Amino acid sequence: MSEDWVDQTLRFPNRISRIVLLAVEDVLGANSGRAVLTMARLSHLIDAYPTPDFGPGLAFTEIGRLFDAVEGLHGVKVGRQLMRQAGRESFGYWIEGFGGVVGFADVALRLLPLSLRVRIGMEVLAEIFNRYSDQRVILDEEHDTFFFILERCGFCTGRQAETPACAFVLGVLEATLFWISRGRRYAVEETACIASGSPACKLCVSRIPLERRALDMKYA
Ligand SMILES: [Zn+2]
Repeated sequence: MSEDWVDQTLRFPNRISRIVLLAVEDVLGANSGRAVLTMARLSHLIDAYPTPDFGPGLAFTEIGRLFDAVEGLHGVKVGRQLMRQAGRESFGYWIEGFGGVVGFADVALRLLPLSLRVRIGMEVLAEIFNRYSDQRVILDEEHDTFFFILERCGFCTGRQAETPACAFVLGVLEATLFWISRGRRYAVEETACIASGSPACKLCVSRIPLERRALDMKYA
């Protein structure tokens, strides 16, 4: 898909652009981070990240070029592992940037059953994406799976990939679930991706945390 075919006006605000750039640099290191920005034709951002406000920040296509460059430099497999890690490690920045505006850390959450907390964590992340960027996210669920569906995805716009490519957002979702469940791990995978030809990016979350599944199997 050429960039001519995608909407160049869709954007993240500065605050989210900054979170992505900081997280990518944290994982790659400063030198590789600079190389990636240069490769992505974003060298004007070197040592000049956007300020954490809500003014218009990077276009989705620019973020897409950033992740393309990471995979260009490190290979697809390692590049995606790194970006999944960057997504996970960005979680502190999301709390810092959005904890106040969406009530992420509501104490009442502690009293709710686990699967409800997981659903609420996904709702909060969807709300941040829908309210503060041009992304469009809907949630769905089947009996044992939650779905986080990006109908308009800021992480793969303009990209073309053989397999689902939104590793960064997968990491953000993993970290959100880890945090809201107070330390449980959930199997999260992207089963469909706009970059690989699907109409939406579909992230699937198993309703039961991994540790509990292992126990259920042991005692079944
Ligand atoms: Zn995707």
